[in-house]
Amino acid sequence: MNAPRTITIIGGGLAGLTLGIGLRQRGIPVTLFEAGHYPRHRVCGEFISGNGPAILERLGLLPLLERAGAIRLQSAAFISGANHSPVRQLSAPAVGLSRYVLDATLANEFRRLGGELHSGARWQEKDFGEGTVRSTGRRAQSTESGWRWFGLKAHARNVPLVADLEMHVSSDNYVGVNRINDGEVNICGLFRARRGESRTSGFDLLRGHAGSPLHEKLAAAQFDKNAFCSVAGLSLTTRRAADKQDCCIGDAVTMIPPVTGNGMSMAFESAEIAIDPLVGYSRGEMTWPEAREAIAHACDAAFAERLAWAHRLQWLMFSPLLRTPLAKVLLGSDAIWNFMFAKTR
Ligand SMILES: Cc1cc2nc3c(=O)[nH]c(=O)nc-3n(C[C@H](O)[C@H](O)[C@H](O)COP(=O)(O)OP(=O)(O)OC[C@H]3O[C@@H](n4cnc5c(N)ncnc54)[C@H](O)[C@@H]3O)c2cc1C
Repeated sequence: MNAPRTITIIGGGLAGLTLGIGLRQRGIPVTLFEAGHYPRHRVCGEFISGNGPAILERLGLLPLLERAGAIRLQSAAFISGANHSPVRQLSAPAVGLSRYVLDATLANEFRRLGGELHSGARWQEKDFGEGTVRSTGRRAQSTESGWRWFGLKAHARNVPLVADLEMHVSSDNYVGVNRINDGEVNICGLFRARRGESRTSGFDLLRGHAGSPLHEKLAAAQFDKNAFCSVAGLSLTTRRAADKQDCCIGDAVTMIPPVTGNGMSMAFESAEIAIDPLVGYSRGEMTWPEAREAIAHACDAAFAERLAWAHRLQWLMFSPLLRTPLAKVLLGSDAIWNFMFAKTR
């Protein structure tokens, strides 16, 4: 029998590391190149919901993350100006853990399993040819439909929450505030601005307009300034894996609107989808085009409907409807909540 072929993974975020771990668990040689270093803060709500926790469990990673501090999140509430939804129990618990801990824990596990990890190593080659997987995350796009989209994230203590996740909606942004490890809360938002609009400092944007429920909530917050980070050039247009030339997973395929809290789950899911075809390729049971196409079609089939509903939800978040009396009905309806929650995961 021939020795298994090495799989090369470019990008050591959640998709790349999870794939690397899954392949190492099956004895496949893996080399992973990551441009950054661990640990590092990332712009992310750090709220893992939907299929993510179950996949982490299947890969044997959930107990590891719980030992690293991951907590279960059980409830959520939406707030738009004076309109509040009730506090609702999540149909399945979500997981809260900082990316600072999460990515570093997965990187350590990948190394422990014998994976070859090169951090601080940016893949410069244009070639993502045979045996190479692209998990390089979202691609930057300066504007979309005339808007610049950007994300901001901070950690803080002393923030009183009515639910494990509170989503605060306003005309040009939404900000999630949720519990994470070590008694901290994550404060993370998606913002939009017209080209050339003057910018308030990132930190002030994240705290919300004076007088808003978010601003009041964060009045006594003690911020961990080291955790503050930002990312610009976000693109929310849906893309299909089958249209890509490279073998792509995670945000390198497409980015789901952050309001769903499902991007990390899609990174884990696409990694899990990719494991068997890549094992087949590595062992010489499949050609590279067969493996790449199997991964792309399975990803598109798994995510198409979810992405379509996520875009409707994203539209609603920025729609003036949420600032009219109708918001009371929309936020108060259990049927709408249950439907959208199920459809976006
Ligand atoms: C504002 C905001 C809030 C969010 N909140 C949530 C949330 O609460 N819950 C949720 O589930 N999701 C959330 N997400 C989405 C989530 O962060 C992403 O979906 C997830 O990080 C995707 O993982 P990934 O591995 O595909 O990409 P990433 O985590 O971005 O990893 C890509 C990696 O590739 C590396 N890289 C890139 N190019 C190269 C190269 N040439 N060579 C080597 N390395 C390279 C990068 O350094 C990076 O480490 C949010 C996103 C935003 C913008």
